[in-house]
Amino acid sequence: MMTIEEFKILSELLFPDVDKTPEYYIEKYPQRNLPEGAKVTRFAPSPTGFVHFGGMFPSTVCERLAHLSGGVFYLRVEDTDSKREVEGAEENLIREYDALGIKFDEGFVVSENGEIVEKGDYGPYRQSDRRMIYRTFAKRLVEEGKAYPCFCTAEELDAVRAAQEEAKEVPGYYGKAAKCRDLSLDEVKAHLANNDTFVLRLRSNGSPDNKIKFTDLVRGNLELTENYIDHILLKSDGMPSYHLAHGVDDRLMGTTHVVRGEEWLPSLPYHLQIFAALGFKAPKYVHVSQLMRMDGTAKKKLSKRDNGASLSYYNEAGYPSETVHEYVMTLLNSNFEDWRRQNQNENLKEFPFTTKKMSSSGCLFDFVKLNDVSKNVISRMSAEDVYAKVLAWSEKYDKELFEMLSSDKDYAVKILSIGRGGAKPRKDLTVWTDVKPYIELFYDDHFEIKDDVPDTFAKEDIKNILSDFVSVYDDNDGQDVWFEKIKDISEKNGFCKDVKQFKKDPGDYKGHVGDVSMFLRIAVTGKMNSPDMYEVMKLLGGGKVIARIKKYTDSI
Ligand code: GLU
Repeated sequence: MMTIEEFKILSELLFPDVDKTPEYYIEKYPQRNLPEGAKVTRFAPSPTGFVHFGGMFPSTVCERLAHLSGGVFYLRVEDTDSKREVEGAEENLIREYDALGIKFDEGFVVSENGEIVEKGDYGPYRQSDRRMIYRTFAKRLVEEGKAYPCFCTAEELDAVRAAQEEAKEVPGYYGKAAKCRDLSLDEVKAHLANNDTFVLRLRSNGSPDNKIKFTDLVRGNLELTENYIDHILLKSDGMPSYHLAHGVDDRLMGTTHVVRGEEWLPSLPYHLQIFAALGFKAPKYVHVSQLMRMDGTAKKKLSKRDNGASLSYYNEAGYPSETVHEYVMTLLNSNFEDWRRQNQNENLKEFPFTTKKMSSSGCLFDFVKLNDVSKNVISRMSAEDVYAKVLAWSEKYDKELFEMLSSDKDYAVKILSIGRGGAKPRKDLTVWTDVKPYIELFYDDHFEIKDDVPDTFAKEDIKNILSDFVSVYDDNDGQDVWFEKIKDISEKNGFCKDVKQFKKDPGDYKGHVGDVSMFLRIAVTGKMNSPDMYEVMKLLGGGKVIARIKKYTDSI
């Protein structure tokens, strides 16, 4: 074991580039001035080129915890793994989150003119720009004898691992495998003189016989084996491992709650050791379950290749961002759906989100639920809102729809208003790709007859009914008068004007008023199912209604 003086010399030898002290940084990033109980959270993705939908879960928890408590929610880009670097991945990630309406208070934001800007007093928020900060803290750990350089080559480490596996021991750098743990200063100097590359390892003071107690805000009280492995703090390129960066950054940036994927739970004892070694108080932790899907009867992780796994999918497929947020909340908090039933028109942000209602057994992804949520979300939007959102979406993804919508805004809003509002709004739209087929009938250039009247009805009867309707139709009729006219026409042509009556004696009639409406519906809308026909006719106006009916009559 080296002496305190030797540790000091070692730290100078290993970090000639470091000219600041940990105290300098601690002073530079003072405690945040926030109200009592305010939470500071961060979303800390590693940009790898693929933005996984699963990231919406920790980021949503972070956002809610921070903003419900008057705190701060920031974005930190964790790009210390140069092997995983992908050109444009960071920008892509920031833009995708922004497109879904996730707004960070600090970190990276998309400005009004569309540029990405770094914002906040606790930056830099990109880990590759914080290299010297990590190295400053690493130096201090060496100085205090809590970290040491390891010169083992990849081959040596492979051999150690193989021997451990052979002996059925836990693999890792510890015990007799930790060959560099007690190198003398002269030995280290010799390696350095030789230009040998090295990593920096934590000199763990843990033991496999000890347990640590720990409380996760979702998983509750846990007992985990203490870390006894001398894991890597700095990699051979001088950049930190995730673990060291986590300790340094979350302390300097004032994170109070670390919300991250459950795959990090096994590293937690190591992280707590790092916090202790650095002399920092550890934050609170929330480990979020992974996103699963059903594969037959088995649960599987939602993997990159699965439909819906990519965050960009949702915008492209035409799900409004509101749907994505609502869906994520539905999966995250078990009491959300009840709340939504009781607060139909409240903004999602009013929901009293709490980690206490989060489940520790994986969220299950499925399209049926997603679509159901989406239908409801869209049905609660105003026609103006739907119009604005579809317009923006179609500009990017469906030029033809964009033209239709922008040709006459008032007309489009009126179409989208049909059946909207009230206690039981229509739920025709699930995704924005549903809009074109839904509104086509209102545009002559796109209108076509899609359904046929069943051939159980005589063509003569259909023609007579349609012609009777043309002769009495009046744009000024209110809905009651309009419907009375349809009933009269039914009766006149041998169709029962009352469905109940018809059901009693079906043999007495050729059909009923519903069938008559169906003839009209097909002639005017081209489809068996359409929004409220009275509303449709009003919007189209008598000229178009009559022209369509005549054209249809001629075609059968
Ligand atoms: N960069 C880590 C990841 O993408 C973040 C984990 C964390 O939030 O601490 O998995």
